[in-house]
Amino acid sequence: MTENWKTRTRLVHAGSRRSGWGELSEAIFLTQGFVYDSAEAAEARFVQAGPDEYIYARYGNPTVRMFEERIATMEGAEDAFATASGMAAVSGALTAMLRAGDHVVAARALFGSCLYVLEEVLTRYGVEVSFVDGTDLAQWRAAIRPDTKAVFFETVANPTLEVIDIPAVARLAHDVGATVVVDNVFATPVFSRALELGADVVVYSSTKHIDGQGRTLGGVILGSCEFIRKTVEPYMKHTGGAMSPFTAWVQLKGLETLDLRVRAQAASALALAEALQGHPKLERVVYPGHPSHPQHALAMRDIGSGGTVVALDIAGGQAGAFRFLNGLEIVLISNNLGDAKSIVTHPATTTHQRLSDEHKASMGITPGLVRLSLGIEDTDDLIDDVTQALNAV
Ligand SMILES: *Cc1c(COP(=O)(O)O)cnc(C)c1O
Repeated sequence: MTENWKTRTRLVHAGSRRSGWGELSEAIFLTQGFVYDSAEAAEARFVQAGPDEYIYARYGNPTVRMFEERIATMEGAEDAFATASGMAAVSGALTAMLRAGDHVVAARALFGSCLYVLEEVLTRYGVEVSFVDGTDLAQWRAAIRPDTKAVFFETVANPTLEVIDIPAVARLAHDVGATVVVDNVFATPVFSRALELGADVVVYSSTKHIDGQGRTLGGVILGSCEFIRKTVEPYMKHTGGAMSPFTAWVQLKGLETLDLRVRAQAASALALAEALQGHPKLERVVYPGHPSHPQHALAMRDIGSGGTVVALDIAGGQAGAFRFLNGLEIVLISNNLGDAKSIVTHPATTTHQRLSDEHKASMGITPGLVRLSLGIEDTDDLIDDVTQALNAV
């Protein structure tokens, strides 16, 4: 039955498990452990736990399992493993499958912590990492080698909103048997079809749109049963990056409204990008959903939306950007995204502060660049707020 359900139905019902009380809302099984009827039963469960049998919350928990199943059915993934944060998902997916001597090719434009894992952590353990301009297929072709084990990129890069051609990169990677790992936060679970397009593994920071109301940190790794159960689970359950049952419960509730929220946010993002075209205080309006974006056609083909984030390059560099941030009345200065509340970030001095000026420039992070995550407030109020703050720059 579940297979025929459309996304919104899956987001409300998939994965639900009811206890004997028949509760309407999912229960939080806020328990570390589970008891067994006998010593023999404990032994049997350690030999082979059945599908809904649990041992210890670091390995799995009924509330966490509900969350995993719900997001897996919406993504069309065979299985999922929920994690303590988005970075536990990114680092877990990569570290679980890589070993010393392996080669990885990654896009250069990445979320700061993803870059740290690839540049500083994996290399420390003998993994070789090559970086490419993710939008340039010739660079992917040149960098992928017969011994490449994985490629990694953000479908839509944070914060520059470059869009990467999943089918084309996946073809190059699959030719050498490499696993395609995609961080899909900016494309969002609502619009993305990353697995269908050729990704083998999709990771999300569920801190973002899935929670959607700024409460809990979480992440999820999605892929084949084989990858999740044989590669990810043994690594994650012993290294400790498990999602808390409380987080899983909050984020199950987040999944119920995810489609409604993200579509409203994306509609506001498009309206804002349209309203700001040609604004005299802007060097650039970057939004994959607008025809002015260099990969607009690709974004429409693969994602069908520009997502919920708009990047603006403000005239006057950092001073202009700071004046803009300080002039906003509704939009809040913070470094989160995907929230019900609209949020603005200045990447050069916050999320990407640690990088050198040359490194920032190579990623397109100019001093005037700001990242605007549209919330679910009234679209006209948001356009008015951004416009009044820009006019005052
Ligand atoms: C936020 C984010 C992460 C990290 O997620 P956390 O939940 O903060 O650990 C990883 N990748 C992208 C693209 C992100 O936006």
